[in-house]
Amino acid sequence: MHRSVTGNERSAGLFFSTVARQKGLHVEVLTDEPASFNFTASLYPLESKKPNIILLNHIDVVPATEEVEDLYTYPPFSGAIADGKVWGRGAIDNKGMGVMQLLALGEFIDLASGVDLPFNITMLSVSGEETGGYTGAKIISDKFLDYLNPVAVYGEGGSGIPGILVRHPDRKLFGVSVAFKRSLWLELTLRNVTSGHGAVPPDNYVVKDKIISINRLVESNRKIMFSETTRRMFYELGEMEGGLRGLALRNMWLFRPLVIPAMKREEIVYSLITNTLTVTSVNTPNGPPNQIPQEISAVLDCRLLPDTTTEDFLKDIRKTLDNEKVKIRVLHERERVYPTEIDQYYYYMKEALEKVYPGAGVLPILAPASNDNNYFRQHGIPAYGILPVFISVDLLETIHNVDERIPVDALEKGVATYIELIRIIIDSKFNDTAINHNFK
Ligand SMILES: [Zn+2]
Repeated sequence: MHRSVTGNERSAGLFFSTVARQKGLHVEVLTDEPASFNFTASLYPLESKKPNIILLNHIDVVPATEEVEDLYTYPPFSGAIADGKVWGRGAIDNKGMGVMQLLALGEFIDLASGVDLPFNITMLSVSGEETGGYTGAKIISDKFLDYLNPVAVYGEGGSGIPGILVRHPDRKLFGVSVAFKRSLWLELTLRNVTSGHGAVPPDNYVVKDKIISINRLVESNRKIMFSETTRRMFYELGEMEGGLRGLALRNMWLFRPLVIPAMKREEIVYSLITNTLTVTSVNTPNGPPNQIPQEISAVLDCRLLPDTTTEDFLKDIRKTLDNEKVKIRVLHERERVYPTEIDQYYYYMKEALEKVYPGAGVLPILAPASNDNNYFRQHGIPAYGILPVFISVDLLETIHNVDERIPVDALEKGVATYIELIRIIIDSKFNDTAINHNFK
């Protein structure tokens, strides 16, 4: 059994890479440590230095607490196959995706050994995604990028879900993420030396002051901002929706006085057009109940749109706080990364999805959280985030949760999508009209 919880990827990585080698792919282990096992499985050896199309997945999973194992229908590390589903950690996030990529790539080994294709296709399996990619994708992008020579990356991201379109609730919709909101964690500290006894409260003391300023922050109206990604996302959504609602979505900017009140009620949508801020803790030094503390701090988890700089965001916060005594410290921030500009590799995936899921809609989206794709975007490599399966929201919610599971037929459809994708790419590279069609 391979309990590949982050930091313990090696044995699962060895197992998976062995399967890939047995299939006949060219396997290279890039790093081999207990907590950082990263490998590639390709149609051609990496030394060939061909332009490389990357199918990215991660080996690690989040923990499944042993004490509550009786909550699980099947043990979370069993990989049980029952009721037409595969059960366990990683079934969706992200081993399922790795298996789809591997099985699809395996179908092209014979072709690749007979024809010298002008490009390579590589499955890249990495460690540490669940804790920020530092033992996986970051190492690859720092040290192996030249060797890997990627021209496009297909990694984790959106999937297919129903119920988005009001007028066509059954239409399947696939969101391919091309940009992410990034995290910025702040600590706001307020110091104020006042008399220290609670029985004679001074007019201004830190706890009161702080509550007032934090309140101002939390209650302030979030600025609505449309980026190129979200504009396009709503436009395409509007085209699929049709009717009046579609018209409003297509011209969101124009209709914003009408649309925005509705947006505010839908937190997910609202979070895609605003920078968000959540107070995750408020701390004062420990003292007796009748002592007024001289210092108070609060931690904020902020999520910024791709267009927002940290500087601009901090400027806005200071303005809203309207209190010079509050000191702001950046605890952690994800680097700002430019969104992927949609190129032919987006259209290849769109075509593959539409082929395997007839009638489905495909559109580019901004994802609410960051993942490994960003390490490639950072270097200007287009990265598309999509799990090419269509599953219910109920099943999606099992990710990082009890009873994570994926239907076997969803896995099969996923394999079919990657096969279709690779076939389309091979066709396009040999057929100019196909390339022109995709650039239209
Ligand atoms: Zn994942």
